[in-house]
Amino acid sequence: MKKITILLPAFNEEESICLIENSMNRVTQQNPNYLWSFLLVNDGSTDNTLQEMVRLHTKDNRFSYLDLSRNYGKEIAMMAGFDYIDSDAVIIMDADMQHPIEIIPEMLSHWEKGYDDIYAYRKISKEKWFKRNSSKLYYRLLQKMTKLHVPKGAGDFRLLDRTCIEALKQMRETERNTKGMYSWIGFKKKGIPYVQGKRLNGSSKWGFIPLLNLAINGITSFTTVPLRIASVLGIAVSTVAFAYLSYIIFTTLVFGERLRGYPTIMVTILFLGGVQLISLGIIGEYLGKVFNESKRRPGYFINSFNGKSPKENNR
Ligand code: UDP
Ligand code: MG
Repeated sequence: MKKITILLPAFNEEESICLIENSMNRVTQQNPNYLWSFLLVNDGSTDNTLQEMVRLHTKDNRFSYLDLSRNYGKEIAMMAGFDYIDSDAVIIMDADMQHPIEIIPEMLSHWEKGYDDIYAYRKISKEKWFKRNSSKLYYRLLQKMTKLHVPKGAGDFRLLDRTCIEALKQMRETERNTKGMYSWIGFKKKGIPYVQGKRLNGSSKWGFIPLLNLAINGITSFTTVPLRIASVLGIAVSTVAFAYLSYIIFTTLVFGERLRGYPTIMVTILFLGGVQLISLGIIGEYLGKVFNESKRRPGYFINSFNGKSPKENNR
């Protein structure tokens, strides 16, 4: 029988653990021809998520758990998960169970047909207008700038063959944009549509700022905060400059020049200043990326895997 692991990164999802247990049992029942296991990654939760995971593991050893040393973010949590999986395929799902398990049989059938990366993409989004449209714009921008085809509405909900996992495991960058990586590694891909459910417990950890960060990282790949501030500052300054610039042009046209040459000098200084600050910020973004990666730090540290410390695990 082929081994499949469902990978569930979780940050403060104590209320979702029961839901996960029920859903995973249903998956096993509906697809009995595979050897199922489930890997929960505790991404530095501050609530009782870990205790719930331990409880689940003790009750049913198909459930494993990996306890990270702090909150690293979902991308790193997934990377850590990959390192601890030795199955023929992995299915990544959100711990809040917003991803419907109903399409898993379809994923499996495509996998059997020889596809390596079967991703689910959202057909009708139930998200708020702003989130829906900003993500639409982002994907368009990403594709234009990176020349990578990142399917719109596709996220981390996907089935990956062993070959894809091995490829992703070799990509050790610490500030990750997994969506771009899935495209980058290539292999045979297949998209299937799904309708995303509402979050039943807890709240989404993706506010506007985290999403904005994820978006900028997707294009520059990585970032350092002070350098980010420089770009934001550049944009702010040039916005003010442009407003003032328009004002000077307007008053000059209407009232004439008060001092000859003054408007041209002001306009030039303000315009160039703004543009230079933006450019500096962008260079800073990429310098920050070099800075972070050149440290060559390990992506994460773990407290334990199934209750055993890294030493006991001999990893
Ligand atoms: N998550 C994580 N680490 C984080 C933030 C989120 O592991 O720092 C997990 C979270 O527990 C969930 C998944 O990533 O399983 C998606 O998060 P969320 O539901 O908050 O995002 P949304 O569904 O709103 O995109
Ligand atoms: Mg969610």
